Amino acid sequence: MKTGAEKMPVTEMKNVGKARAEALGRLGVTEIGDLIRLYPRAYENRGDIKLLSEAENGEKQALCLVIATQPKRALIRRGMSLLKFRAYDESGTAEITYFNQDYLADKFRLGDVYRFYGKVERKRMPSGKDVFSLSSPIAEWVRSVPEELPPLVPVYPLTSGLTQNLVTKLVSEALLYLPKDPNSDTLPEEIRRKNELPSRNFALKNIHAPLCMRDLAAAKKRLIFEEFFLFSLGISFSGKKLSRAKGAKRCLINDISPLTELLPYSLTGAQSRAIAEIRRDMEKEEPMSRLLVGDVGCGKTVCAAAAMLMAVQSGMQAALMAPTEILANQHYGDLEPLFSKLGIKVALLTGSTAAAEKRKIYAALSESDPEKRIDIVIGTHALISEGVVFSELGLVVTDEQHRFGVKQRSALGDKGKNVHMLVMSATPIPRSLAMTLYGDLDLSVIDEMPPGRQRVDTFVVNESYRDRLCGFIEKLTGEGGQVYVVCPAVEEKEEEDEDVGIPMEDIGIGTLFDPYFDEKKSTPPLKSAVKYAEELGLRFPDLKVAFVHGKMKAAEKDAVMRSFSAGEIDILVSTTVIEVGVNVPNACLMIVENAERFGLSQLHQLRGRVGRGKRKSYCVLVSDSEGERAGARLDTMKTMYDGFAIAEKDLAMRGPGDFIASASSSGIRQSGDLRFRLADMCTDGELFTAAMTDARSLLGSDPTLESHPELLSEITELFDLDGSY
Ligand code: ADP
Ligand code: MG
Repeated sequence: MKTGAEKMPVTEMKNVGKARAEALGRLGVTEIGDLIRLYPRAYENRGDIKLLSEAENGEKQALCLVIATQPKRALIRRGMSLLKFRAYDESGTAEITYFNQDYLADKFRLGDVYRFYGKVERKRMPSGKDVFSLSSPIAEWVRSVPEELPPLVPVYPLTSGLTQNLVTKLVSEALLYLPKDPNSDTLPEEIRRKNELPSRNFALKNIHAPLCMRDLAAAKKRLIFEEFFLFSLGISFSGKKLSRAKGAKRCLINDISPLTELLPYSLTGAQSRAIAEIRRDMEKEEPMSRLLVGDVGCGKTVCAAAAMLMAVQSGMQAALMAPTEILANQHYGDLEPLFSKLGIKVALLTGSTAAAEKRKIYAALSESDPEKRIDIVIGTHALISEGVVFSELGLVVTDEQHRFGVKQRSALGDKGKNVHMLVMSATPIPRSLAMTLYGDLDLSVIDEMPPGRQRVDTFVVNESYRDRLCGFIEKLTGEGGQVYVVCPAVEEKEEEDEDVGIPMEDIGIGTLFDPYFDEKKSTPPLKSAVKYAEELGLRFPDLKVAFVHGKMKAAEKDAVMRSFSAGEIDILVSTTVIEVGVNVPNACLMIVENAERFGLSQLHQLRGRVGRGKRKSYCVLVSDSEGERAGARLDTMKTMYDGFAIAEKDLAMRGPGDFIASASSSGIRQSGDLRFRLADMCTDGELFTAAMTDARSLLGSDPTLESHPELLSEITELFDLDGSY
């Protein structure tokens, strides 16, 4: 939470004028508090000073060197000058050069000691002697001992108009606005003590300018805990609020047989149970808020259809919101033919609905004459746009709910009065976890699959199978089938950010050793969707290969998905954005690259994209990871096909944090209502559990947060007013 001074605009600071404020704005920083929360993305480990003789060629290193020669200027070509001098330590001498920085000539004086930080080039001469050179290293004057300089130097995200030095300076200035009282804190003292968390002031200061790895780790731990804690508190709290209202319209006519008679199959026992639970809710004058959870393909849509039928029979309108156009289209295509047979009017409203058509739908939704009005509208978040006004909205269904923010969901609900809400989740979340994540939503579980589902044969292979895999692609596409290939990364660059220093992700929390030096990560190279699509295109010149990833515009993504759906694309390479719930029955092979990167539940979701039609389907998990645990984890996919069991296993193996992260294919980190700056569900599972437990027990003793006004205002800000958290 921002305290008083932290809410002041950055322009209040003496070094921030209009231009800088604008540049900061591009980083999302408008208030002083935002600057305090502009966490470094990495740290340069300048405190780890090496001798020249220990320096590795091409590595960024900190060195402590004495200036040995007077810097000499040379003009190498027009507009390009070179400053050159030598510096030494006990193990060797290095040649140091700077381009176009003549002003440095007077800075380096003979005999002075500097801490240099930069990439060291080390060349072996024929004589056997090593020659060292550094090009434009960062240089800090050592007044007495090198330890006086900060050992860990933050690296901030930048934008044009800002430099590292400037941001560092502004942040340290912003830190002066922290509350003077060192004990002021947002987290209750008891919770801090129990979890061994430092104070808020300590954490915010040390995340930027730590004196040692241990302080940094403690700071990070505190800030992560805080993110999880507020998240849990907010979720649980808003869940409570949701179910308190009364005055919903009761659905007393709720015979769904007209619908079920139209279906070419009969409902499974689990579907009937879920529908009965929904019916019981909708008969009450307390609005329903129910979460419907079930494995991929278990048939949740028809349960939603049943609920919508009940609402319409009772004189209400119903809305079904899907996270993507392609899903909305799919639902419309499935449901409209059924409902129209029952004389129920259904409309589709998405971003691509033509303006004239939109106006017609708007008019028919607000029509008070039940004969003329649209009964059911299916769409995307276009449903929450201002023009949409219902005359009698009684039920809101959101599909694949994790894609929507709390704000979006309630925005649609707010278009009616005390509407019934049904939330469907694609992920088979274990009950215990669902209760935590979704606060006080009631839960219906579909734990049974429709009969006759084919099993998707699953294989775990390594790189040596590449040729055989290509042969398999050839065979299946030759028979007219389609293939998904999923990769974890988008562009090469994303994973190659090593030069910046120690990435924030690598800073351990609460660990007493420095994790960075303990263990070098040895993950196999990541396949990037874009590059991989290119490779496959070359390898299969006769096949149509396309890619889709999260950084593409929604319309572009939809266009690609649509043409895959239409069978115009043979191989679709994608990141996990391939839409949850998308149904392309002709797809029969799912290849997951770097499979060790995915959670089991996520792999299960991905596998659920195939085996939806008549074609015999396969899932191939490609992994070169040598870790034994990764291997064992992937192997469970070969024998486990029940989403709930997989979820339990995932939970047991990696803790809830990890599970939640992978459960939502888009990743909670990016989803609308939850953005963690530091917390990572994948690695901080234990902390998440702790924060969750504490948040719930706090709410248990203070359900309205009466005695914690600061927490109340904080979650109000994060969850309601500002849906961007
Ligand atoms: P999900 O729960 O993943 O949203 P869907 O509702 O899309 O699953 O259903 C998947 C498929 O299963 C659809 O093609 C649907 O028609 C079919 N289906 C649903 N219920 C049954 C059932 N009881 N028997 C047979 N097929 C069913
Ligand atoms: Mg679905």
